[in-house]
Amino acid sequence: MSEEVVIESEENVNQVACQLCQSEIEEGAEIFLNGNKVCNSCKNSIEQELKEEIPNSQNLIMGCVGGLLGAIVSGLIWAGIVVATDYEIGYVAIGVGWLTGLGVSTLSGGKKSQSLQIVAAINSVIGLLIAKYIMFAHYLIPVLKKQENYDADYFDPILISIFPENVSLMLNGFDALWVILALSTAYSILAPTKLDFDKPVDE
Ligand SMILES: [Zn+2]
Repeated sequence: MSEEVVIESEENVNQVACQLCQSEIEEGAEIFLNGNKVCNSCKNSIEQELKEEIPNSQNLIMGCVGGLLGAIVSGLIWAGIVVATDYEIGYVAIGVGWLTGLGVSTLSGGKKSQSLQIVAAINSVIGLLIAKYIMFAHYLIPVLKKQENYDADYFDPILISIFPENVSLMLNGFDALWVILALSTAYSILAPTKLDFDKPVDE
């Protein structure tokens, strides 16, 4: 082994080790992958793995189902917390984004893509709207009973029909912040892995 090293240094062939499989690469032939020096075969296997990360149409459909389930469950939990405590804890909205993203990720089979990010984001908004609707109905039902002697339940068509025009009145500046946090949480869970082949600047 030591003899080889001597010969190489005499021939002035510098070798670097692949940072993934430790095999030797001739200097100059190494590939930079997210700032690491890797060999060609490692680069190929990583690219292959990333191809498997991309969802097919069935993964996408299941991702939509998972997102909707996550939206319903997390929307119910958030509204439940508000109803139980009589206090709207805004940052729970981040949990809506997280659970929705988790639903998309789990049912899509752990796939990641921009399309799944969009699915997660849309369903997070649905989850937040479900929570807002339950809060809206929860406070309005007793008012209708008292003032109009009208018995409404959570699925009352009148309540549902007046929700869109009232939801904007229920929203404040903080809600916008929670929506952004919920969306970015959902978005990051499904973010595709990025490969960067740029040579680091400090080399
Ligand atoms: Zn390698």
